[in-house]
Amino acid sequence: MAKTKQGTKIEFLGGNNEYRIGANSILIEHSENGEEPKRIMLDVGALFPPDWVHYDAALPDMSSYFPNPYNQVTEPVDGLFITHCHEDHIGALVYLSAAKYELPKEYTSGFTRDFIMSQMHKNNIPEEFVPEIATVKQSDTIAIADNLKVSPFNVSHSTGGALGFHVLTTVDGKNNAGLVFSGDYHLGKVPFGEGFDEEAYKEFIRDKFVSHIFVDSTSATMSADNVVTFDQAVANTVRELEKHKEKQVFSAVIARSVQNLAIDLKAAKDTGRTVLIAGAGLKQTFNILQKRVKDNDPKVLEIFGIEDGQRFNFEDFVYKASDVERADPQAYLSKYPPEQRYMIISGAFAEDKEGRKSCLVLMSEQNKATVDAKGKVKGKGQSGHPVFTVDNNTLFMLRQRPIESINGDKHRALVSRLQALGSTVVLNGDTLDTKYQRTGHANKAETEKFIRLTIENCANSKELLSGKQPLYIVAIHGDAEQLKANEENFKREPAKTMFCLNTDQIMITPDKCEKIAGKSFDEQQWICIEAHSMRGYGANDIFIFDMCDKHFIKQDNLFTIVNVSVKANRKAEKENNYRINKAIEKAKELEEQGISASNIEIRRQVRGDKKGAKIDRYTYEEIKNLRDSKPKSKSKARYKRGGREEY
Ligand SMILES: [Zn+2]
Ligand SMILES: [Zn+2]
Repeated sequence: MAKTKQGTKIEFLGGNNEYRIGANSILIEHSENGEEPKRIMLDVGALFPPDWVHYDAALPDMSSYFPNPYNQVTEPVDGLFITHCHEDHIGALVYLSAAKYELPKEYTSGFTRDFIMSQMHKNNIPEEFVPEIATVKQSDTIAIADNLKVSPFNVSHSTGGALGFHVLTTVDGKNNAGLVFSGDYHLGKVPFGEGFDEEAYKEFIRDKFVSHIFVDSTSATMSADNVVTFDQAVANTVRELEKHKEKQVFSAVIARSVQNLAIDLKAAKDTGRTVLIAGAGLKQTFNILQKRVKDNDPKVLEIFGIEDGQRFNFEDFVYKASDVERADPQAYLSKYPPEQRYMIISGAFAEDKEGRKSCLVLMSEQNKATVDAKGKVKGKGQSGHPVFTVDNNTLFMLRQRPIESINGDKHRALVSRLQALGSTVVLNGDTLDTKYQRTGHANKAETEKFIRLTIENCANSKELLSGKQPLYIVAIHGDAEQLKANEENFKREPAKTMFCLNTDQIMITPDKCEKIAGKSFDEQQWICIEAHSMRGYGANDIFIFDMCDKHFIKQDNLFTIVNVSVKANRKAEKENNYRINKAIEKAKELEEQGISASNIEIRRQVRGDKKGAKIDRYTYEEIKNLRDSKPKSKSKARYKRGGREEY
């Protein structure tokens, strides 16, 4: 983007996405008097592609922001501010570090820092590429420059240590932009960390200038009826368990939701069952939770009903709690009879990518696999998860609401397979009776309250309420539908709403605020990642592609890949040829740099049909002849827009 001469520019790199959700990242650039701009980035998340593509995560191209081996840095970023530890907010960091990007200093809560560090270590990131992370808290102000200051505040979310940020920029010493970013948030109580506290927030915002409020819109269409407190969630879970006293229990959660894990742990403790934590991500979350207990986090102790000085040990009700990595599922199964078992597993989204099926999916397919002493799966199950047997004495609690347009069908199929095996399946969220978790995102009423608290208590409250100074409300985080819903929710005087999608930019100068033309969505470059790159291939598996969800062009030292998605219409044909031409250009570019692009891979894939994937390999010469090639397969499968996410 063109450099800011005077004022503050905000660019939505990801997260405000018409096509897919995830990859939350916002760039803020500030400059006055034509000086070299200062830049910060809020969150650096990853996007999760649908199953029919061959990569595992994607992120906006960051190569112009951080020093890296691939590209010139033209817009250096001076600091990263991270709201919380969910993949759609931190997921890209480890990939960037793995690809030898030198990330600037990060600022976040201790809880989130622990997560990022554990991810860096788990993936063997060399020490020189592990970013420096400063722990910040609500009373802090971080001055990136005299005219660009950031202050974190506590919010509640489904994980611990979630922060929102206030960003203040000045021009000639006068306030220019006062930006409040909610982060992923709700206003209810949280089991871990600080969470949102109304009085503390009023105190925080009292001396802050506010011109813009950016609100998480994930649950924009939800009403207050959808809210369940932590204690209610535990009580509802215990009630389900009481109904099925004799059964072995599996609870499927998303690995990063500390909130869900805590609900399960508390319910298991209250019903006298012993927990088995299965799955690498869950173990990581549990270890961090355990660390909180060791550090005597009063909130953690409180939710488990521990009073001052009382001994508390997860070892009492979590199998091998002090060395959860070695919790051998087979030993657990032989030690505890069904009525004492409480197995917490991941795979709540019915993940079934080829070769990496979740434990839950393998169970539903009755895949026979043996588990060795270290908990490693041998044989058919390749997911690295233990595989258990399902019978009519089994209760499944599937906590995660499926994302209808992405995994709705898959989820329903999973449930019927589990039921066909005789098990009982309890779904979360559909009726009051079975609802036992709350979403981590503010509903309409909470968002209204957050906005009201902000404008009624900030330093320039009078000017905002009288309409003397404009207030802008910008919906962030979600697909276009949710963003639109939140925009409608707050369309009223004196606030003005701004509707922004990825690549949109907002320019704030002392006189005005306007949306300005940025890159078009088609022009935005994305980096695409295959997870095997994290298992030894290193930076060679960073892909540059030009439109998330559709196609990608791989650029590394060896070859270029074009992923062609075949649709049965002329437009798609044209698109395919465009991608192929792009690949040729890229190959040429590489050749000019003295890199031989001799191995070019074209993947033709029929959307929605995994078996339709066809991979052909060509030489550089051969690919030139493909310019006018026609799609080989046809499909009526149509792309569906992303739905609501629960991160
Ligand atoms: Zn999120
Ligand atoms: Zn989140």
